[in-house]
Amino acid sequence: MKKILIIHTGGTFGMTPVEPDSILAPGNLQDQIINTVPEVVRLADIEVAIPFNLDSSNIGIKEWDILAKLIHKQMDLYDGFVIIHGTDTMAYTASALSFSLLNLKKPIVLTGSQRPLSKLRSDARSNLIDAIELAAMNIPEVLIVFGQLILRGNRAKKISITSYDAFTSPGYPYLGEIGLKIVLNRSKIFKTKDEFYLFDGFSPEAAIVNVLPSLPPEYFYSLLESSLKTFILLGFGAGNLPNYLPNWIPFIKSASENGKAVFIGSHSLHGSVDLNLYECGHNAIKAGAVGLGDMTFESAYVKLLKILKLTTDREEIYEKFNQNWAGEI
Ligand code: ASP
Repeated sequence: MKKILIIHTGGTFGMTPVEPDSILAPGNLQDQIINTVPEVVRLADIEVAIPFNLDSSNIGIKEWDILAKLIHKQMDLYDGFVIIHGTDTMAYTASALSFSLLNLKKPIVLTGSQRPLSKLRSDARSNLIDAIELAAMNIPEVLIVFGQLILRGNRAKKISITSYDAFTSPGYPYLGEIGLKIVLNRSKIFKTKDEFYLFDGFSPEAAIVNVLPSLPPEYFYSLLESSLKTFILLGFGAGNLPNYLPNWIPFIKSASENGKAVFIGSHSLHGSVDLNLYECGHNAIKAGAVGLGDMTFESAYVKLLKILKLTTDREEIYEKFNQNWAGEI
C-alpha cells in the first residue's frame, strides 16, 4: 500500500460549523478525516501533519518555505503528499512549491473545499479522496486536484467563489479529469531527468499593478523609489497599455532606467500576452518591458519572488524568468 502524508494547512476544509475559526489539533483532524471519510484507509497508508492552520489569505513566503522544507525532509518516507489548503491562495502556494522543489519525482497534490468537511453536501470528501488517489499515482508534479479536475499547480487559477468547480488552467490543458475513471493526459505531464533539489527562500520585492482606463501612472511613480525590484503591469487583452492619455510608457522607461524589470500581463483569462500585436503593446517593449506570455500572474509573481532570491539584476531577472522551471511557461 502506498504511503501518503496529508499536510493540513487550514482553509474551509477543516473548519467546524460551531467555531469556524478554531484551530484544530493534529489528532482531531486525523480523527475527523478517518470518521468522515473512513474509506481513505483503503486508499493508502495515511499519516497527517499540521504545520500551521491558517485561512490561506494569511499564507505567504514563510509558510511556503515551511511546506517545502517539510516535504523535502520527508520525501524518501512517502510515495506522495496531499496538502489541504484554503482555495483563496492555493494557486500561489502550488506555484511556490513547484519553484522550491525542483525536478520533483513524486506527486504533491493540493486540494481543499468550498464547504467544510463536517457539513452536508460538502465537496471536501470527494476532493480529498481524489487527491489521495492522485498522490498515489506516479505523477512528478505539484498538482491541484479540485472539482474533478487535475491541474498543473503553477498553471491553475481560482475562478469561482461559490462553485464546486473553483479552479481552471487557462493556459495549459488539464492534466486529467476524474469521472467514472481517472483519465490522465500523460503526454502533458512535466518530465525531467535532472536531480531533485530544494531551493528555499523568496524575496518579496515584486508587485502587480492593475492598469485601468484613465488610471494615472503618476500615482505609482513613488514605487520606483521603493525597494521593489520588479513590476507586473496587468494590461488589456494581448497586453495593451494606454499610451496617450494617460500614458504608461514613460513609467516603464523610468522603471527600466532605475534598473527595475517590468513585465506585462493581461486582465484576460485565456490566450497569450503578445506585445507585438498592437502599437500600445509594442511601445511597452521599446520602453523595456517583457510580456508574461501564457503564464498566470499568480505563477509569474511567485516565480519573481524566487528569482529575486538569486539576483536583482534586471537582465538576469529576464533571463531566469524566461527559463521553464516546472512547466509554468
Ligand atoms: N478563505 C478560505 C481560504 O482560502 C477559503 C477556502 O478555504 O476556500 O482559506
